[in-house]
Amino acid sequence: MVRFAIAVLVLTQLFGSGCGKRLLPRPAVPARTQDAHDTVDPSSQNKASDASGIVEPDERQKPSEFARQLSALRSGESSLVHLVREPLAADELNELLDEVELLDLLLDAGGPSDAELGIIGKLPKLEHLRIRQSQITDEGIKSFCDAGPLQLQILNLPQANITELGIQHLKRLPNLTNLRLGGEQIDDVAVIAISQLPRLKSLHLIGPSLTAEGLKPLAFAPRLASLYIDDCDLPDRAWEELFSAKPNLHVHIDQQHHDRDPKHHEHD
Ligand SMILES: [Zn+2]
Repeated sequence: MVRFAIAVLVLTQLFGSGCGKRLLPRPAVPARTQDAHDTVDPSSQNKASDASGIVEPDERQKPSEFARQLSALRSGESSLVHLVREPLAADELNELLDEVELLDLLLDAGGPSDAELGIIGKLPKLEHLRIRQSQITDEGIKSFCDAGPLQLQILNLPQANITELGIQHLKRLPNLTNLRLGGEQIDDVAVIAISQLPRLKSLHLIGPSLTAEGLKPLAFAPRLASLYIDDCDLPDRAWEELFSAKPNLHVHIDQQHHDRDPKHHEHD
């Protein structure tokens, strides 16, 4: 079942669907509740409740979310680690360093500190990094980029605290195509830095604090094809100016298509 779920997840990551593509991957494995986490599997339950009451140490609990995925990674069945319920612990991160085939690291329950991002940056083939529930700062982004994760294509840090200074470091990632960042520290100056990312195709900003001037630099983003902005009111004229410069830009505002979106018909 786990193997199947991972396969589905990998396919979802690879092919995506509709407008979200790889920018907004939907977890194929539903988040489980704490109750599910605590459920003992039937085989160990039988042993646990036998007459002696003695439980063998390795039967006391199921392998952790991380342990199961590490095992799939090591056997070559998967190139993904996707932790839905458990933050990535420091010792687990160190174990990942040997996993040179890891392509997708998705940490929905957070975990890594700024300093630990420097370790993640050493994963030689990492293409997709998503960390939720973690207040990573510009220092973390610097550590990450210093380590040279040159294969990275997708960076998704919706709850991080990254400013223009951190984004400047992202210019060192030659394959970065998709960027998703959140927070009001994403301002007009940050957008200038974003517009200078050489291969950026898809940008999603959540709750930035942009003025009417904030979109202007994106007219010069060389490869930008998709722009999603949530929770940020901008005047119509700002959008009109951007569409004059980039008539084929695919735009979502608060998860809805812009009226001018040329791909409007492709979605619900
Ligand atoms: Zn769309």
